[in-house]
Amino acid sequence: TTSPISAHVEMAERFAAHNYAPLPVVIAEGDGAWVTDVTGRRYLDCLAGYSAMNFGHRHPRIVAAAREQLERLTLISRAFHHDQFGPFCAELVDLTRTAGFAGDTMVLPMNTGAEAVETALKVARKWGYERKGVPDGRASVIVASGNFHGRTLTIVSFSDDPDAHDHFGPYTPGFRRVPYGDAAAIEAAIDETTVAVLLEPIQGEAGVIVPPRGYLAEVRRLCTERGVLLLADEIQSGLGRTGTTFACELEGVVPDLLILGKALGGGILPVSAVVGDASVLGVLRPGQHGSTFGGNPLACAVGRAVVDLLRDGTYQARARELGVILHARLRELVGRGLREVRGVGLWAGIDVDPTLGSGRDVCAALADRGVLAKDTHGSTIRLSPPLVVERADLEWAVDQLADVLATA
Ligand code: PLP
Repeated sequence: TTSPISAHVEMAERFAAHNYAPLPVVIAEGDGAWVTDVTGRRYLDCLAGYSAMNFGHRHPRIVAAAREQLERLTLISRAFHHDQFGPFCAELVDLTRTAGFAGDTMVLPMNTGAEAVETALKVARKWGYERKGVPDGRASVIVASGNFHGRTLTIVSFSDDPDAHDHFGPYTPGFRRVPYGDAAAIEAAIDETTVAVLLEPIQGEAGVIVPPRGYLAEVRRLCTERGVLLLADEIQSGLGRTGTTFACELEGVVPDLLILGKALGGGILPVSAVVGDASVLGVLRPGQHGSTFGGNPLACAVGRAVVDLLRDGTYQARARELGVILHARLRELVGRGLREVRGVGLWAGIDVDPTLGSGRDVCAALADRGVLAKDTHGSTIRLSPPLVVERADLEWAVDQLADVLATA
């Protein structure tokens, strides 16, 4: 007799490609910050779908918006207008106003994060040829070491993570990688072919790496001075996680293209978008870019609910306040099983003392105690609970971590 858990795990192992190595937890239901497995066991979700679940599982206002839209219209394609499209784009633009986006800001909706990054890169190249005068075919984009922007061929071409990169060539040319957090390296790498700098304001997959204070602002200054676009990948850092709507706001930076995904889909479906000024996004003319599902009615209805949730700053304030508690509690564990704690808002990267076990070992022990978290590289674990998490639950999760580290 096999348990329901091992039956599901075995089926996945047999019939699904092994491009992930999930912990043996089989979730069947979710509600807020909590999920329940097929045996009825509850877990606090401290990964939150890599920040796609910022508003928790099945947020009532997001579910209501989706349900209402499901009863009306789900897809019509961009060959026609629909009644959720304009409002979604307008409301998202309005949300970016508080972050300093001025003038003719517009939105280009896509689906996954990687697609939105590809979109921003395509726009930057075209802008370079048509507005900056870079000779055709010679555009280059500066990226950072440790970057993670998705899994498509072009994006993995400029990754320095061997797992993400190796044996997927031939690679897309036109990228230069410089150390993350080093503005002088960007300055040195800019030449007449440079059309853009692509950065995560805080690197998520790399282990929640916060760059030195002033880095983003200095990169912004350099980009403006040298006529280069700043592309901010806020797919993981954006939409409330850091205590501001966008992480760029932490340094008062307005990027030329803001790339959003994950939480924009409310944890219901993939919704991504590129936001930027008409002088940049306007290089795309009809027929030059698109997506069958991009900006579909269901996605727009859900995206509108997400934007609405972020409008009054409640979730951002929650991320700030709970983040202070999370980081204070985690810092107490430095020297008690943790080597380092990084992060901003309700987002932390913790480095476990490798002599105690791998990040995965610690995540397995946490899962045994009812806390879901995910290792990123080696002994680093990312904590990004939903912004709706209760303070007592968050503190309980840190207690579990402390116990796991103390008994490892
Ligand atoms: N960019 C960043 C910063 C991310 O963290 C991710 C996903 O983890 C992506 C892009 C890719 O998003 P998607 O998996 O939706 O393609």
